[in-house]
Amino acid sequence: MAGIEIEEAEKELMEAPKYPLTMDEYKKTLKEGKLLGLRCGACGEVTCPPMMVCQRCGSKELEKIEMSGKGELMTLTVINVPPEGFEGPYIVCLVKTAEGPWIPARLDYDISKLTPEVLGKTVELKEGLTLPGDKYSAGERVVPVFKVVE
Ligand SMILES: [Zn+2]
Repeated sequence: MAGIEIEEAEKELMEAPKYPLTMDEYKKTLKEGKLLGLRCGACGEVTCPPMMVCQRCGSKELEKIEMSGKGELMTLTVINVPPEGFEGPYIVCLVKTAEGPWIPARLDYDISKLTPEVLGKTVELKEGLTLPGDKYSAGERVVPVFKVVE
């Protein structure tokens, strides 16, 4: 009887979903200055940051890829009054990556020289910024930081 239960448990473990890219690996790699994503085997769409399924079609047929780290600056805002535990001012932005997904990030830019003309510029990943956990989060976070290259 016990033998059968172990067999069933082993079978369940073998069928458990295998994630091609975990959040831990994504954050570790981002700290090294690389952006990882997931390419969908069913529709070809790229998902970033990592999710359990393709963000376009819901397929679990995902393959880990290294993204170019390049993109276009779509929008931004300056945080002058940061939440507790953060140091301001800083720029939060949305980057449309070359592979497709829009990702939230920070922008390394001189705030005193900021104009709307910066929108649409080409940006590239500079680094992954590690933020310590605070009373609102579940621990350390790593956010991508982009710089304007064009
Ligand atoms: Zn898909």
